Amino acid sequence: MLSTSNPCYRQSQIYNYYACPYAFNLSRKFSIKTTPAMEFGLLFEGYLFGFKDNVDQAGIEKGKLKKTIEKIKSHADFLRPYFISGESHVRNQYDDIDYSISGEFDYIGEAIVNGQNIRGIFDIKYTADINKIWESKEYKNDFLQAYVYPYIHLKLTGELLPFVYFVCENKYDQLLYKTYEFHMKISDMEWIERYIKMIHDDPINHPNINSCLNQGDYKNERCKYMEFCEFGRSLLSGNKIMNTEDLYHGVLL
Ligand code: SF4
Repeated sequence: MLSTSNPCYRQSQIYNYYACPYAFNLSRKFSIKTTPAMEFGLLFEGYLFGFKDNVDQAGIEKGKLKKTIEKIKSHADFLRPYFISGESHVRNQYDDIDYSISGEFDYIGEAIVNGQNIRGIFDIKYTADINKIWESKEYKNDFLQAYVYPYIHLKLTGELLPFVYFVCENKYDQLLYKTYEFHMKISDMEWIERYIKMIHDDPINHPNINSCLNQGDYKNERCKYMEFCEFGRSLLSGNKIMNTEDLYHGVLL
């Protein structure tokens, strides 16, 4: 019998473990603030599939230029016909014996990918630069949704579906997009299951201070959980004794 006190993990939390197990721990307790880039993504998805109840459309639109809003709407209008039949914003949860895994699928059903109709699970990304951000991803962890969402669906239904990211670039007036298509195998599902179990069984979630300052798409950002992390905060703050002998002259006198 399942215990109601079992932890429930989300893909966005599991994602943090690879860089820093302690960040995974913090992500289960704290929510990070919505950034302007995330707001553009919420608007794009809202115009594309309709706004979710927990998204404050008017609040996000407020203060944005009319032409920016119109551009995002036109991008959504361009992409919408590629989604033929299915459901959007579908929340699913798989309950294992000791833990649960949940995720919200942007779309599940039939869509046109590379000129073909395929049945799958689809995720929408709205990004500043497809090439710089998406072409540099090379780890399984970078594409964790592509593993976790088919895994949840497989566990719930017995059906192993492809997963496709629609990565949409917001730079140009006419939408530029690229699809990243994953046809997961049972061995991939076994890999993600082992990964989730390993995280669940980690009693420590140790901090990795090598990751504090090199995160984000360009590997030059602070950890998103720095605000809440005593290890990261002590790395950046405190006192530093400055030795004038070590400073460059700059000008010779
Ligand atoms: S600030 Fe550093 S130690 Fe703390 S959670 Fe982030 S990466 Fe880990």
